[in-house]
Amino acid sequence: MDFNLTEEQMMVQNMVRDFAEKEITPIIKEYDRKQEMAPFVLPRMAELGILGICLPVKYGGQGMDYISLGLACEELEAVDSTLRVVMSVHMGLNSMGLIQWGTEDQKQRFLVPQARGDKIACFGLTEPGAGSDVAAMDSTARREGESYVINGEKMWISLATKAHNVLWIARTDPETNDPHDGLSAFLVELDREGISRGDIHGKLGVRAGSTGWIACQDVRVPLENRIGEEGEGFKIAMSCLDNGRYTVAAGATGLIRACLDESVSYAQERNAFGREIGKFQLVQQKIAHMVQSYDAARLMYLQAGWMKNQGIRNSRQTSLAKWFATDASFEAASQAVQIHGAYGYSDEYNVERYLRNSKGAVIYEGTSEIHQLIQAGYALGYRQDAPLRKELPTYDEQAWREN
Ligand SMILES: Cc1cc2nc3c(=O)[nH]c(=O)nc-3n(C[C@H](O)[C@H](O)[C@H](O)COP(=O)(O)OP(=O)(O)OC[C@H]3O[C@@H](n4cnc5c(N)ncnc54)[C@H](O)[C@@H]3O)c2cc1C
Repeated sequence: MDFNLTEEQMMVQNMVRDFAEKEITPIIKEYDRKQEMAPFVLPRMAELGILGICLPVKYGGQGMDYISLGLACEELEAVDSTLRVVMSVHMGLNSMGLIQWGTEDQKQRFLVPQARGDKIACFGLTEPGAGSDVAAMDSTARREGESYVINGEKMWISLATKAHNVLWIARTDPETNDPHDGLSAFLVELDREGISRGDIHGKLGVRAGSTGWIACQDVRVPLENRIGEEGEGFKIAMSCLDNGRYTVAAGATGLIRACLDESVSYAQERNAFGREIGKFQLVQQKIAHMVQSYDAARLMYLQAGWMKNQGIRNSRQTSLAKWFATDASFEAASQAVQIHGAYGYSDEYNVERYLRNSKGAVIYEGTSEIHQLIQAGYALGYRQDAPLRKELPTYDEQAWREN
């Protein structure tokens, strides 16, 4: 078992850390307060190749492996969750879904511009009346000759107003016995007639990001925009989530690290009762828990990334990594605020932002409760992973680097 990172993985780690620390740290509080995404974030991530990091060079990507994607997400969220959210939706939930399920034509039309960062992608599963219970969705896609006509509304969609394409899940068959079997997946260009969208304001966290809604009224898309077969929408959405959850797990690991670093430095500079607060055992206990959580979360996401590289199905490990890391990051952020005392309660320090940001990740991409049901389901033998018609391709360095 080799726990070392390769030279290239370390290069990715350093490049992304440099970008986040040098270019985002100085401006993040301002944009978090304004509740806006800094306009240079997406073009700069595109320019650095981050938006196509683990996609093959022939599709406009950087040809790196899935572990590099995790490392990038850890570095991004160590500075701000909104940066990692970009990777979760643009890469994990959309582009990786395309590399897994898309046809060659769809890869050329959608994946290539997304990998280069010329086009931004998002993922539309959640609706006003359907979150965890995906199959309760109302969105429909009606076949009319060589097109589908899409109607419905998606809610809580990250990058809704920044993206050019959405991977939209809709019901194509209302008659199936199991409602999951009646769903299909579509790539919808967001400049099509009948689309309206907007941002949600007043969020608890990820305020320097974009979260919104998208509505489709009689939006016509060609047959070639359907991903997979009719009825495969639920499976496609779940495999996209296997990739999105991986990025969330890795990012939450970075958030734990940020909480740990800031808690250690504050504990060494703040004095109470004649000594630095780091000398108090109750403060040490909080720091020790952060150390424990960071190492465990990191091992879990790296294991999932390794399995992705090898082409081994990792739904269980990814769900476990996501559940563990996000719960642990929320706890770490809460304890980091506690260590900072009243100063932690103001935006003079970063930890209050970490706490607000960490709450989102225990809700999106499967709430902590849903991940507990998933884990118990595997343990009790109620849940097994059936083979998919198309799996995420195994990482093959030579093939990934070919032009
Ligand atoms: C910042 C942010 C960004 C998001 N980005 C996206 C995105 O890009 N694309 C997208 O499609 N969605 C996105 N979402 C939506 C997110 O995926 C959903 O909010 C999530 O799936 C939960 O659904 P819900 O909010 O409808 O909660 P509900 O499903 O209504 O759940 C409410 C509560 O009931 C609990 N619950 C539900 N069912 C069960 C059960 N069977 N057993 C036990 N407890 C249960 C839940 O755990 C939760 O505590 C985003 C959400 C947020 C907050």
